Amino acid sequence: MNAQKVLDDLRQRFPGEPEYHQAVEEVLSTIEEEYNKHPEFDKANLIERLCIPDRIYTFRVSWQDDSGNIQTNMGYRVQHNNAIGPYKGGIRFHASVNLGILKFLAFEQTFKNSLTTLPMGGAKGGSDFSPRGKSNAEVMRFCQAFMLELTRNIGPDVDVPAGDIGVGGREVGYMFGMYKKLTREFSGVLTGKGREFGGSLIRPEATGYGNVYFLQEMLKTKGDSVEGKTVLISGAGNVAQYTAEKVLQLGGKVLTMSDSDGYIYDPDGIDRAKLDYIMELKNIYRGRIREYIDHYPTAKYVAGQKPWNEKADIALPSATQNEISEEAAQALVNNGVIAVSEGANMPSTPGAIRVFQRAKILYAPGKAANAGGVSVSGLEMSQNSERLSWTAEEVDRRLHIIMEDIHANCLKYGTEADGYVNYVKGANIAGFIKVAKAMMAQGIV
Ligand code: NDP
Repeated sequence: MNAQKVLDDLRQRFPGEPEYHQAVEEVLSTIEEEYNKHPEFDKANLIERLCIPDRIYTFRVSWQDDSGNIQTNMGYRVQHNNAIGPYKGGIRFHASVNLGILKFLAFEQTFKNSLTTLPMGGAKGGSDFSPRGKSNAEVMRFCQAFMLELTRNIGPDVDVPAGDIGVGGREVGYMFGMYKKLTREFSGVLTGKGREFGGSLIRPEATGYGNVYFLQEMLKTKGDSVEGKTVLISGAGNVAQYTAEKVLQLGGKVLTMSDSDGYIYDPDGIDRAKLDYIMELKNIYRGRIREYIDHYPTAKYVAGQKPWNEKADIALPSATQNEISEEAAQALVNNGVIAVSEGANMPSTPGAIRVFQRAKILYAPGKAANAGGVSVSGLEMSQNSERLSWTAEEVDRRLHIIMEDIHANCLKYGTEADGYVNYVKGANIAGFIKVAKAMMAQGIV
């Protein structure tokens, strides 16, 4: 394989999809050497079959708003690869959603799911519908209309969606209700469900907790720990909230959280009581992060900015893709950051990754560090198939083991001659090898 040639070809065939090109480039540049050790891969043109999704569904979603107007949005499901298990990946509802973004997420998901050690293929879906500012009834009607179309393409052994940005327990519940109504089937077709109808304990916590478990493993390689460290977190949604919770449990100090309008910085630290306030503000009242300073006036609110210019030991980006620019990465390094672990998917731009790796700080890409979420989704599928539910301790124990295993795999494939661990390379090669072998065994399909 000539990675550059493959990339140029993809750019030409699929123009206008920069996030997809970015994700493919990151993977190809790190697996090229390993890939070329296997001439049989090239003979089977494995690389193109791995980069191009198996299939993509695109559909119109029509729904009625509270004023009686008929609205239309686009709906998508990208089924990227099912070589090692049923398609699996979240659904994103956000105004910025387009096909290129979902293709990048589905591509990444394939490697991430392979890393989890569980049998799950990669997929992603979503819509340019934004739940922000919509009433509950509008969100329900939208979710129902979206599922009316998606139903025919998913199933508990075919494709199992979950949440992502803009899709939490409420949206998963409405989509599950509609799937059940249409198919007359009660199955584990979605994960992230409510506890009362098959949801796994620890699923809401899993991505954030898993990221901090991964961070702990990275710090351990330096004989260090989270205790006493200052931490910058971006986002204030599902991932950010449970990242903050786990950092607090381990004795770290959380300085920032954010939303798409700006960030808050609390010099005294966001403690348990303050985090409870943020959880209530975001999950129940669906408010904005700037309201924090009305309650805690010693904190500051910075509108229109991201938190990366603040000084701290650790950064845990947990909002969205490309939220750390090269300049922001340089500011973090200049301020003495020792570790960056990604809760979000692809939050660091390629330039930012170069800055972190050149400075030889601990840097974990999302496909390794945030794999805890889909791992517990996989455990939810197992529990649904067994028609049993495991205790929180049991799920958390398994999550911890999975994150340790992913870390060990990154060390195996990513440790360089001078001892520096290139977690991007480690995660990409470990994820790739398993999928590649499965694809080779299954022939040209
Ligand atoms: P939520 O919708 O719960 O929260 C997203 C948070 O990020 C909100 O605070 C939101 O602010 C902010 N945000 C979203 N878009 C932007 C933007 N363009 N610029 C700045 N801030 C933004 O989503 P999740 O917490 O579930 O997801 C966060 C990230 O984690 C995503 O990258 C997702 O793909 C990734 N992830 C999530 C998993 C999960 O289990 N949920 C699993 C693995 C990865 P606002 O309210 O203003 O929109």
